Amino acid sequence: MKKITCAQLGGPCDHAMIVADKEELMTKNLEHIKEAHPEIVATVENLDAVWDESPETPEEHDAENVLIMDEEK
Ligand SMILES: [Zn+2]
Repeated sequence: MKKITCAQLGGPCDHAMIVADKEELMTKNLEHIKEAHPEIVATVENLDAVWDESPETPEEHDAENVLIMDEEK
């Protein structure tokens, strides 16, 4: 079992989740976000709209950021 906090996953609070594996972590984290941070769920559900509204920006990220983005896919 592992104890992982909302903050460790990039969330805005220190809510701790005790989980057996990554799959359970994803499920519990989603449940927690829906319950405690509905505004984040709204953002995720509005991803298409946010994408369309956001301006184009020149490519200017460093290698570390690219690495993190690739891991999240
Ligand atoms: Zn939280």
